[in-house]
Amino acid sequence: MEQENKKQKLPKIFIVLRILSLIMLIAGIVLIVLSMTVFKVGEASSMGVRFGGITLIIFSFVAAFIGFSTSIAKAQIKAQKHVISQSKEDLKDISEMHGDIMSPTSEKVARAVKKGLSEEEPSEEHKYCKECGKEIDKDAKFCEHCGHKQ
Ligand SMILES: [Zn+2]
Repeated sequence: MEQENKKQKLPKIFIVLRILSLIMLIAGIVLIVLSMTVFKVGEASSMGVRFGGITLIIFSFVAAFIGFSTSIAKAQIKAQKHVISQSKEDLKDISEMHGDIMSPTSEKVARAVKKGLSEEEPSEEHKYCKECGKEIDKDAKFCEHCGHKQ
Protein backbone atom coordinates (compact mmCIF):
# COMPACT_ATOMS: atom_id res chain seq x y z
CA MET A 1 0.00 0.00 0.00
CA GLU A 2 2.82 2.39 0.91
CA GLN A 3 4.52 1.71 -2.42
CA GLU A 4 1.28 2.49 -4.27
CA ASN A 5 0.96 5.80 -2.40
CA LYS A 6 4.55 6.68 -3.29
CA LYS A 7 3.91 5.89 -6.93
CA GLN A 8 0.83 8.11 -6.92
CA LYS A 9 2.58 10.99 -5.12
CA LEU A 10 5.71 10.98 -7.26
CA PRO A 11 4.18 12.17 -10.56
CA LYS A 12 2.59 15.17 -8.76
CA ILE A 13 6.05 16.52 -7.90
CA PHE A 14 7.11 16.10 -11.50
CA ILE A 15 3.99 17.84 -12.76
CA VAL A 16 4.61 20.73 -10.31
CA LEU A 17 8.21 20.96 -11.53
CA ARG A 18 7.06 21.05 -15.15
CA ILE A 19 4.58 23.87 -14.43
CA LEU A 20 7.21 25.68 -12.33
CA SER A 21 9.77 25.41 -15.14
CA LEU A 22 7.28 26.89 -17.62
CA ILE A 23 6.46 29.78 -15.26
CA MET A 24 10.17 30.44 -14.60
CA LEU A 25 10.94 30.31 -18.32
CA ILE A 26 8.22 32.86 -19.13
CA ALA A 27 9.21 35.06 -16.15
CA GLY A 28 12.88 34.86 -17.18
CA ILE A 29 12.13 35.86 -20.77
CA VAL A 30 9.89 38.70 -19.55
CA LEU A 31 12.66 39.94 -17.24
CA ILE A 32 15.26 39.84 -20.04
CA VAL A 33 12.88 41.69 -22.39
CA LEU A 34 12.20 44.24 -19.63
CA SER A 35 15.93 44.65 -19.00
CA MET A 36 16.38 45.62 -22.66
CA THR A 37 13.27 47.82 -23.02
CA VAL A 38 12.03 49.43 -19.80
CA PHE A 39 15.40 49.60 -18.08
CA LYS A 40 18.28 51.50 -19.61
CA VAL A 41 20.90 49.15 -21.02
CA GLY A 42 24.18 49.39 -19.13
CA GLU A 43 22.59 50.60 -15.88
CA ALA A 44 22.94 48.51 -12.75
CA SER A 45 19.17 47.94 -12.52
CA SER A 46 19.06 46.64 -16.10
CA MET A 47 21.98 44.30 -15.41
CA GLY A 48 20.30 43.05 -12.23
CA VAL A 49 16.99 42.37 -13.97
CA ARG A 50 18.74 40.62 -16.84
CA PHE A 51 20.79 38.53 -14.40
CA GLY A 52 17.54 37.61 -12.64
CA GLY A 53 15.99 36.61 -15.96
CA ILE A 54 18.96 34.44 -16.94
CA THR A 55 18.97 32.80 -13.49
CA LEU A 56 15.24 32.06 -13.80
CA ILE A 57 15.75 30.48 -17.23
CA ILE A 58 18.60 28.31 -15.88
CA PHE A 59 16.38 27.21 -12.98
CA SER A 60 13.56 26.55 -15.41
CA PHE A 61 15.81 24.23 -17.46
CA VAL A 62 16.87 22.39 -14.29
CA ALA A 63 13.23 22.05 -13.17
CA ALA A 64 12.21 20.92 -16.66
CA PHE A 65 15.01 18.35 -16.71
CA ILE A 66 13.89 16.90 -13.37
CA GLY A 67 10.20 17.31 -14.24
CA PHE A 68 10.57 15.42 -17.52
CA SER A 69 13.12 12.90 -16.18
CA THR A 70 10.38 10.27 -15.82
CA SER A 71 9.39 10.79 -19.43
CA ILE A 72 13.06 10.73 -20.49
CA ALA A 73 13.58 7.53 -18.48
CA LYS A 74 10.45 6.00 -20.00
CA ALA A 75 11.61 6.95 -23.49
CA GLN A 76 15.04 5.47 -22.78
CA ILE A 77 13.49 2.23 -21.49
CA LYS A 78 11.27 2.12 -24.58
CA ALA A 79 14.31 2.65 -26.80
CA GLN A 80 16.24 -0.06 -24.96
CA LYS A 81 13.30 -2.45 -25.25
CA HIS A 82 13.22 -1.77 -28.98
CA VAL A 83 16.97 -2.46 -29.25
CA ILE A 84 16.62 -5.65 -27.18
CA SER A 85 13.70 -6.91 -29.28
CA GLN A 86 15.68 -6.18 -32.45
CA SER A 87 18.75 -7.97 -31.06
CA LYS A 88 16.50 -10.88 -30.10
CA GLU A 89 15.32 -11.15 -33.69
CA ASP A 90 18.90 -10.92 -34.91
CA LEU A 91 19.99 -13.60 -32.46
CA LYS A 92 17.06 -15.74 -33.56
CA ASP A 93 18.13 -15.35 -37.19
CA ILE A 94 21.74 -16.16 -36.28
CA SER A 95 20.73 -19.23 -34.28
CA GLU A 96 18.49 -20.39 -37.12
CA MET A 97 21.35 -19.93 -39.60
CA HIS A 98 23.68 -21.65 -37.20
CA GLY A 99 21.14 -24.45 -36.76
CA ASP A 100 20.93 -24.95 -40.53
CA ILE A 101 24.71 -25.19 -40.76
CA MET A 102 25.00 -27.38 -37.70
CA SER A 103 22.06 -29.76 -38.27
CA PRO A 104 23.87 -32.17 -40.65
CA THR A 105 26.84 -32.24 -38.27
CA SER A 106 24.69 -32.77 -35.20
CA GLU A 107 22.76 -35.49 -36.99
CA LYS A 108 26.05 -37.21 -37.75
CA VAL A 109 27.13 -36.88 -34.13
CA ALA A 110 23.78 -38.21 -32.91
CA ARG A 111 24.00 -41.15 -35.29
CA ALA A 112 27.58 -41.89 -34.26
CA VAL A 113 26.67 -41.76 -30.58
CA LYS A 114 23.68 -44.02 -31.20
CA LYS A 115 25.83 -46.44 -33.17
CA GLY A 116 28.57 -46.33 -30.56
CA LEU A 117 26.14 -47.05 -27.78
CA SER A 118 24.57 -49.98 -29.62
CA GLU A 119 28.01 -51.37 -30.47
CA GLU A 120 29.19 -51.09 -26.90
CA GLU A 121 26.13 -52.96 -25.71
CA PRO A 122 27.33 -56.36 -24.57
CA SER A 123 25.93 -59.01 -26.84
CA GLU A 124 25.41 -62.54 -25.66
CA GLU A 125 25.24 -64.15 -29.06
CA HIS A 126 27.62 -62.03 -31.06
CA LYS A 127 31.20 -60.85 -31.10
CA TYR A 128 33.27 -58.75 -33.46
CA CYS A 129 35.86 -59.87 -35.92
CA LYS A 130 39.41 -59.08 -34.83
CA GLU A 131 40.37 -58.33 -38.43
CA CYS A 132 37.49 -56.40 -40.00
CA GLY A 133 35.48 -55.49 -36.90
CA LYS A 134 32.18 -56.70 -38.26
CA GLU A 135 29.63 -58.45 -36.11
CA ILE A 136 29.86 -62.22 -36.27
CA ASP A 137 28.40 -65.17 -34.40
CA LYS A 138 29.94 -65.79 -31.00
CA ASP A 139 30.78 -69.41 -31.78
CA ALA A 140 32.03 -68.74 -35.31
CA LYS A 141 35.59 -69.88 -35.90
CA PHE A 142 36.00 -67.86 -39.06
CA CYS A 143 34.68 -64.39 -39.91
CA GLU A 144 31.72 -64.60 -42.26
CA HIS A 145 32.73 -61.30 -43.84
CA CYS A 146 36.48 -61.54 -44.36
CA GLY A 147 37.15 -65.18 -43.48
CA HIS A 148 39.75 -64.33 -40.85
CA LYS A 149 40.31 -66.97 -38.19
CA GLN A 150 38.91 -66.09 -34.78
ZN1 LIG B 1 36.34 -60.35 -40.51
